[in-house]
Amino acid sequence: MTLKENISNDKIINQVAAIELQNVVHTYGKQQANSKSLHFSQWKVEIGQQVFLYGDSGSGKSTLLNLLSGILAPQQGSIKLFGTEMSDLSNSGRDRFRAENIGVVFQQFNLIPYLSVAKNIELAVYFAKSSKQQLVESLQQLMAALKLPSSILHTPVSSLSVGQQQRVAIMRAFINAPKLLLIDEPTSALDNSAKHGFMTLLLEMCQAHNTTMIFVSHDTGLEPFFSLRTPITSFCNGISDEVVG
Ligand code: ADP
Ligand code: MG
Repeated sequence: MTLKENISNDKIINQVAAIELQNVVHTYGKQQANSKSLHFSQWKVEIGQQVFLYGDSGSGKSTLLNLLSGILAPQQGSIKLFGTEMSDLSNSGRDRFRAENIGVVFQQFNLIPYLSVAKNIELAVYFAKSSKQQLVESLQQLMAALKLPSSILHTPVSSLSVGQQQRVAIMRAFINAPKLLLIDEPTSALDNSAKHGFMTLLLEMCQAHNTTMIFVSHDTGLEPFFSLRTPITSFCNGISDEVVG
């Protein structure tokens, strides 16, 4: 490869960020007199980075993750994920984009307790682009990596230990090979040794798959796991009465 090609390739790599957010506003209670807004000024995360995003309770962390995953639509501003402007997509386009590119692990691991592990995974792959064969293969790989015995596949999630539930939640988040993982305070129910295992596994999986991850927590004890740490206050001023739009 010539020097020139090298430079232009670098340029392409540098141009597309995993997340690029600019002047994003979300208003809660828009129809009400006491509506309140959150304003996110500017934030950029490069592809393959794992970021510890921290801030006090109520500082806007979950709102941000919901905006990134498309569960909430911003009233203003730009959210670009891997170069795609979210507001350019229709509702169904956003759903598809999310299914194909984003994995989420939220506080309660969002597993459906009375369904088996296999059914929970099936729900996650409903929109996926991969073939059944590919899915079975990635499921087998993930179960091995996460040290989950195949016997749990037909066990209802509610009969698993918390540690196994976590690993199932990680597996479900990775099953579609997401480019972006959004994780919201998943460790709050865990004791310290379980926390350590969860974090180590999660980061290993991200590094192995070059997955970009935003890990949200108010637990600053988790900081040492990350080389990149961002306070949400560096780009969000918290909730205000400011009338927007
Ligand atoms: P965090 O996840 O950092 O604790 P949130 O994003 O949940 O913060 O909340 C940010 C602010 O938005 C808080 O002041 C919260 O009260 C407010 N908020 C969150 N969800 C809603 C909602 N559904 N309706 C009204 N206000 C909300
Ligand atoms: Mg929250």
